[in-house]
Amino acid sequence: MGDAALPGRVTLVGAGPGDPGLLTVRGLRALERADVIVADRLGARAVLDGLAADGVLLRADVIDVGKQPGRHPVPQEQISQLLVTLARQGKEVVRLKGGDPFIFGRGSEELECCREAGVPVELVPGITSAISVPAIAGIPLTARDLAAAFTVLSGHVLIEDVPGGRDHTVVLLMGVGTLAHSAHMLSRSRGAGCPVAIVEDGYGPDQRVTFGTLGTIAHVAAQARVRNPAVVVIGDVVTLSPSAPPELVDAARPSLDRKEAP
Ligand code: SAH
Repeated sequence: MGDAALPGRVTLVGAGPGDPGLLTVRGLRALERADVIVADRLGARAVLDGLAADGVLLRADVIDVGKQPGRHPVPQEQISQLLVTLARQGKEVVRLKGGDPFIFGRGSEELECCREAGVPVELVPGITSAISVPAIAGIPLTARDLAAAFTVLSGHVLIEDVPGGRDHTVVLLMGVGTLAHSAHMLSRSRGAGCPVAIVEDGYGPDQRVTFGTLGTIAHVAAQARVRNPAVVVIGDVVTLSPSAPPELVDAARPSLDRKEAP
């Protein structure tokens, strides 16, 4: 355990999407050093369980601040305060967060809170679900001739101003609840036929990919009972997934052929 005579510190670690193989080496070293790990449910918990299953022994106590079914998550201010309190007790604290702490993770707030309290704090980036979850479904966010840019959005933000067309990939995090609205808004610039994939529980036991178009996806997702956590990918790159249905690929073909023409 930490020694009160020594100053403690906080390391904010990105856990990646949930597979321990996608934790960084620097993140693993921080976990091994830690006296206490303050973990989120999504991604972080799965990584700790996965490390244990792989025989990696961590000596740290684990404090779970994530949302459990039927239980409320610990409020953000309390989490930040907890980090400061533990560090002031002289502990090596790791704050383990899903994906990358700076992508819709409120990592900057926790970092700022530690800094304001005079607690040494360091960030270890993680592999964000925005990129890695589409990847497990075989979907690259950019691809020659298909997409040269991508935008990552939270489903909670206004989607009206996303630039570009089908060759500008859109990735929605926390996007299941607002899917119908997002699909409707994006179909104005991208057309109702624009391919969409939803990847649920990437790298987890319930991983599943659901395909549709901007015109059909809200209905298809409701029928399939698509649930969070899920990443929604919108754009022609979706057709590169080996599991994309042939009719979706064929329907996207006219626009693809145009781009392939000299
Ligand atoms: N900081 C995180 C994102 C936090 S917001 C990151 O960089 O990945 C939480 C959202 O991330 C979820 O609602 C979901 O959209 C997405 N997400 C995180 N892990 C996921 C996973 N394993 N599978 C599917 N979606 C995931």
